[in-house]
Amino acid sequence: MKKATKVLTLALAMVMLAGVLTACGGGSKSGDTLTFGTNAEFPPFEFVTSSGVIGEYDGIDMAIAKKIADENGMTAAIENMEFDSLLIALQNGQIDAVIAGMTATDERRETVDFSTTYYTATQVMIVKEDSDIAKATDMADKKICVVQGYTGEVCVQEMGYTYEAFKKGTEAVLELVNGKCDVVVIDSATAQKYVGDNEGLKIVEDASAFESEEYAIAVRKGNTELLDKINSSIEKMLSDGTINELAVKYTEETTAE
Ligand code: GLN
Repeated sequence: MKKATKVLTLALAMVMLAGVLTACGGGSKSGDTLTFGTNAEFPPFEFVTSSGVIGEYDGIDMAIAKKIADENGMTAAIENMEFDSLLIALQNGQIDAVIAGMTATDERRETVDFSTTYYTATQVMIVKEDSDIAKATDMADKKICVVQGYTGEVCVQEMGYTYEAFKKGTEAVLELVNGKCDVVVIDSATAQKYVGDNEGLKIVEDASAFESEEYAIAVRKGNTELLDKINSSIEKMLSDGTINELAVKYTEETTAE
């Protein structure tokens, strides 16, 4: 075969293979790739590092994803994208599941199915150490920063406050550090990480204002085959202490420095 023909044939074969893979997106046979979507901007759950547990991706969620795939004889792959795009990508079949510190909310349950809860968190407020914000209602006349599409944004919206939304947690925290906003509303474990990384910040909790949030893995509606596999892995990792160990490990790792 001439080189050009060979290249063309190879390209064609790849296109066909891609077609087959997409067509089989809902299945999860042994030996398959299990593609998880995430937004690797959410330490200690997911972040980019030089050598992570799945390629360049590391964190509690990434370790959980790898274990789920391993246990089912599959290979875990990660597609990193904006948080807002995750559920759309899932519905399109671009990814098989979403693991992104994602809270299983009623609104999201309308479009996807969620696994068993693997982690419980809550929204907290990050403020400067000398801030007079002591409870959620103190935010009323303050400049509030959130991350777009996170449950933190939904909470602040429901409280009726005006706010500015950023694409990334680090951007919102930088705004606070630079004195351009007074408070960042974000998930508890991630807040701890940011407070550990930046001087002069503290966390303010308000359990009466922020409900607890359950992190779960999302799959396409009705994909019970995959959901069953994910759930049995999660239940195992919860009962044998794996998830606890991962939480401790990554919380220490990402706040040390
Ligand atoms: N738990 C929050 C949510 O579900 C934030 C998740 C995230 O930023 N990765 O919206």
